[in-house]
Amino acid sequence: MAKIVCVLYDDPVTGYPTSYARDDLPKIDGYAGGQTLPTPKAIDFQPGTLLGSVSGELGLRRYLESLGHELVVTSDKDGPDSRLEKELADAEIVISQPFWPAYLTAERIAKAPKLKLALTAGIGSDHVDLQAAMDRGVTVAEVTYCNSISVAEHVVMMILGLVRNYLPSHDWVRKGGWNIADCVARSYDVEGMHVGTVAAGRIGLAVLRRLKPFDMHLHYTDRHRLPESVEAELNLTWHATREEMFEVCDVVTLNCPLHPETEHMINEETLKRFKRGAYLVNTARGKLCDRDAIARALESGRLAGYAGDVWFPQPAPQDHPWRTMPHHGMTPHISGTSLSAQTRYAAGTREILECWFEGRPIRDEYLIVDGGRLAGVGAHSYSAGNATGGSEEAERFKAAVPA
Ligand code: NDP
Repeated sequence: MAKIVCVLYDDPVTGYPTSYARDDLPKIDGYAGGQTLPTPKAIDFQPGTLLGSVSGELGLRRYLESLGHELVVTSDKDGPDSRLEKELADAEIVISQPFWPAYLTAERIAKAPKLKLALTAGIGSDHVDLQAAMDRGVTVAEVTYCNSISVAEHVVMMILGLVRNYLPSHDWVRKGGWNIADCVARSYDVEGMHVGTVAAGRIGLAVLRRLKPFDMHLHYTDRHRLPESVEAELNLTWHATREEMFEVCDVVTLNCPLHPETEHMINEETLKRFKRGAYLVNTARGKLCDRDAIARALESGRLAGYAGDVWFPQPAPQDHPWRTMPHHGMTPHISGTSLSAQTRYAAGTREILECWFEGRPIRDEYLIVDGGRLAGVGAHSYSAGNATGGSEEAERFKAAVPA
């Protein structure tokens, strides 16, 4: 029987919810492009409940224990004395969410001789050293599409929030003020602005589609060009290089995976190619950006605003410069873990586990690494190598005491 270690974020500081703001979730029939929603044989959770925190257990306990497996659920993931590190010795499967990633570095994979499957309950498996997984024959899978639209909605919200100066204006209200001039001295309309996405995959294209009705000029750069019909429908401008796109955009959004080719794609040099006063929104991965270069660009005015929900490492230490840099609209990593998204990726995780234990193939669209090489969607969107370097810094985070 297998040991499954599931690393999830902590419950709310007020305790696991006993009631919710809404009674149901809207019904979604499928994803754009025809991919089907997760199709597990059964689920043991109530859609719309908090599944991604420790007590939610992704709704997996009854299913796994009914098969005689051992399920260990913990949030204690960083450092050599962490529960994760101890459980690795005999873990066959490690499940983790990108919001609270169980970094599976080469060193940790070496400490897990029985590890066969690293399962991402969400999208983005850069917290696994993919090279080490390939070398050791560990399968890596993620729940493609489960939260792509959740993130696209978040990107649109953050673009509007930055350009219209929403968060500082909201702060004035909370402070008891009525400081209109303070609020609007940095507030613009997005109408007529040029917005460009690095990558027009599931999220990037959904962002472009959602911004079209705002009458923005839409740009993208990607390794593979979109079909002509889509370019025509959205009146898209394609750029062969990122830098060429940066030069003409008022707003740039990053929507590509983190892999060795994309790590630190936004750095001191590439920021020089941005228009002065551009806005940058990154909900893809923190390490796509050089964090100190971002802070300096906000201080100098090269960037007028930066927002996103992804950091490196996660959780970000209290002294991470993105917590205190000017004109930022950062949140913890939340865009892909709305209650709506959790329902989909918990079901997708169950589907993958059912396939694994029943000896059925995992969908190609969920596979990142298999049989010692990049596979399925991973072979299309990732490059080989490792992007986990520096993740041990996550140990420096100290959980905030509730106010
Ligand atoms: P997709 O696989 O649909 O899209 C990724 C796109 O990135 C593909 O179009 C791919 O291009 C493109 N790409 C890869 N490498 C490059 C590169 N070097 N330059 C330009 N484009 C590149 O994934 P999603 O859109 O669903 O997700 C994208 C990323 O967003 C995830 O990998 C993850 O890191 C992040 N994410 C964040 C979440 C959050 O909660 N904040 C939740 C979900 C995802 P091509 O296929 O043409 O090679």
